[in-house]
Amino acid sequence: MMSSRSDREKQVEKLSAFTISAGMSKLAQESSAHSFLNASRGNPNWINTKARLAFARLVQFGAQESQRTLHRGDLAGYVQQEGIAQRFLDFLQPNDATDQFLQQSYTYLTDTLSMDGDTAIKGLIDGVIGNNYPAPSRSLSVVEPILNHYLEKNLYHGVPLADTTEVFPTEGGTAAIVYLFHALRENHLINPGDKIAINAPIFTPYLEIPTLNDYELVELDLTSTAENHWEIDSRQIAKLADPSIKLFITVNPSNPGSMAMTPQALSELQAAVAKNPNLMIVTDDVYATFADHFQSIYAVLPYNTLLVYSFSKLYGATGWRVGLVAAHDKNVYDQLIHEKSAAIHERMGKRYGRIALHPEEMKFIDRMVADSRSIGLYHTSGLSTPQQVMMALFSLTNLVCGDQPDPYITASKKLINDRYRDFFDALEIPANESPHNTKYYALINIYKLAAIRYDQAFADYLKENYEEIDFGMRLAEMHGTVLMDGTGFGAQAGTLRVSQANLANPDYRVIAKNILKLLDAYHAHYLAAQKDGNH
Ligand SMILES: *Cc1c(COP(=O)(O)O)cnc(C)c1O
Repeated sequence: MMSSRSDREKQVEKLSAFTISAGMSKLAQESSAHSFLNASRGNPNWINTKARLAFARLVQFGAQESQRTLHRGDLAGYVQQEGIAQRFLDFLQPNDATDQFLQQSYTYLTDTLSMDGDTAIKGLIDGVIGNNYPAPSRSLSVVEPILNHYLEKNLYHGVPLADTTEVFPTEGGTAAIVYLFHALRENHLINPGDKIAINAPIFTPYLEIPTLNDYELVELDLTSTAENHWEIDSRQIAKLADPSIKLFITVNPSNPGSMAMTPQALSELQAAVAKNPNLMIVTDDVYATFADHFQSIYAVLPYNTLLVYSFSKLYGATGWRVGLVAAHDKNVYDQLIHEKSAAIHERMGKRYGRIALHPEEMKFIDRMVADSRSIGLYHTSGLSTPQQVMMALFSLTNLVCGDQPDPYITASKKLINDRYRDFFDALEIPANESPHNTKYYALINIYKLAAIRYDQAFADYLKENYEEIDFGMRLAEMHGTVLMDGTGFGAQAGTLRVSQANLANPDYRVIAKNILKLLDAYHAHYLAAQKDGNH
């Protein structure tokens, strides 16, 4: 059964982790194993219902309001602002849970955020109806403060930045990443040959973008390792003090490592930035709410940091495409642009001069918005307004909890924690219970597992006799279980990522058992080979 397939496997190893897992998934579906379990997907298998039901109610109210000004069959007019807040409150049913949430949201907007009721409701209703281009294009005025307070509450750990942060809602974290790299390059903030530090292992797109011909950037891995429990260590952080490093890209909490940076790591990073004050930092915090006591790099280094966030994971909303990029109103990006040579300003002036009278004064975040639509279509840029309102509603489900724990976040954490615990329990190795561990993904190293369950000689035999992805391929083929190969994320050889997000709870024990069964089969083969060798 353990025939050599190394040629095929060698070719496969060149592909990205996502492409490999699609291949494994095909093998697993064709497998004769009775269960097909795909634990490679990070897409959650839960959703938030409250915000979605509230969205539907806003659409209903919006249609009713539109008919006030014009009503001919399905044709209706525009929404009027005057008195809309009162009509909205009258529309809400006091005993309906969704309407109660909308009532609480209204109170939050008018009392806590001191918004004018009519302006806020008109903004949200126009947003869900979607009859106007997004204006202002970067972010709707009613949406931005809501997003800012959500980020402040969940990502900054007490640092007040809601009023000094500018947000650009995007089509998921994915678009935020694309727009951001594009604008960094267009504004000569990263140039071919620049040194960029990446905290690997990392979500593959980050590894793949910089190596694209477009960028030709030099990567510097600040590798987090299993020995270090996937946390970035002090010596690695200190490397960032070197001013030749222009940009540091990190996913925090990490994917696939799932660890959040500790307070100590954050202060070490601050110390490094004190020596390299122009360091640009991109932090992707999409898993923030799954860690305990989380604090973003943005909270401690707002001047240097661009923050990427997405509602996809927590709210089960990957199809909505809802994410954002945020920057402080005073930031190193604007400063570095300001310091560019006259020649570069002239070149950039040709680009941005079509849309701004004083292009040299245009902020980096607005350049990003313009670049997201190739400059020429700046006037129709910005995220679809219903998507922006959906983000505001997701945020409000959390904000209306005030100082009380958010039961939805508690429940989502418990769900993945239970799966994680069952998985490691069945795998018979201790789980990492650190509060900085989000447990969204588990990383296991097959060679280490082999050494723990059997011995080092067997682990060495596995390493020497099989291609790195052999285990994952066979797990798919023979047991119908698909994991993601961690090496595609820049992890050490033999690392597999088990997503805790996408399968039913009991499946995680089955996956662990399948891993152990397969390891046992390799071991039996190893013992037989030993015997043969002794003849
Ligand atoms: C899932 C994920 C994203 C993508 O987010 P979308 O909002 O779905 O585009 C971005 N970054 C990381 C680290 C992710 O895991």
